[in-house]
Amino acid sequence: GLAGVPAADAPQKAKDFKSDQEVRWCPGCGDYVVLNAVQSFLPSLGLKRENIVFVSGIGCSSRFPYYMNTYGMHSIHGRAPAIATGLATSRPDLSVWVVTGDGDALSIGGNHLIHALRRNVNLKILLFNNRIYGLTKGQYSPTSEVGKVTKSTPAGSLDHPFNPVSLALGAEASFVARVIDSDRANVTATLKAAAEHRGSALVEIYQNCPIFNDGAFDVLKDNDEKQRRIVTLQHGEPIVFGPEDEQYGVVQGPEGLRVAKLSEVDSGQVVVHDAEREDPSLAFALSRLGGQDLNPAITGIFRNTT
Ligand code: SF4
Ligand code: MG
Repeated sequence: GLAGVPAADAPQKAKDFKSDQEVRWCPGCGDYVVLNAVQSFLPSLGLKRENIVFVSGIGCSSRFPYYMNTYGMHSIHGRAPAIATGLATSRPDLSVWVVTGDGDALSIGGNHLIHALRRNVNLKILLFNNRIYGLTKGQYSPTSEVGKVTKSTPAGSLDHPFNPVSLALGAEASFVARVIDSDRANVTATLKAAAEHRGSALVEIYQNCPIFNDGAFDVLKDNDEKQRRIVTLQHGEPIVFGPEDEQYGVVQGPEGLRVAKLSEVDSGQVVVHDAEREDPSLAFALSRLGGQDLNPAITGIFRNTT
């Protein structure tokens, strides 16, 4: 159960969370994996269905609430975090989830997203990142890579993309995670960790759009399985990341904190560091650690437990 949210009267199954609505995503869409993972893990929380709410914005993934046999709202473009903030703050007896995409959350809704995170509202935000506008048929989005050729950028996109993990850490979010849709076990474990976190949790989900951006994350799928395992960073723990034979850590050097391969530094140099919100250099190091420029295959969780 979750503190303050009423428990279910009887054990539940995944089918209890499936609505009678026909799922209308394209065949092969990554959204199916996440929907199934959510419906499968929710029974383990043991909450009354009427105390669970999914609030979405606009976009393909924002059809999510229709498919859940819970309360829900398919709301306004980019404004799901604002609506969910009102709900979560006035009704602490609810488990409130936001479902959004890269366009919805980071373009029109970017402002709402960062303020929900910095206020640490008790919301779980699922950010489906397919690096494209799918619903409007394939324009470049705030997470599309430089040079992306789309209908709206025929000569290639000029814009540098947002890294949602860095953005969330910059807003001092207390729980930030990244997963890939093809890794169902990791998706499920991360959803559960997010649900149990008190405060705002951002879970970025790399989601394949087979119609308008197929294969965007294939490079990660082909990578070593071990690189995609969950790493949890907790208060007071060493900041290390990655598979055992290729771990990275936050290292104190003459130039300040930096991220380095542990095999290339003295073990004594590794900072065993409290994950304090007040340390911007640490947040920066973490953002690099989870960021695109170090190793995009790394998925993990940053959790501030203070
Ligand atoms: Fe999924 Fe892409 Fe189809 Fe939208 S357009 S439902 S993201 S496959
Ligand atoms: Mg999108």
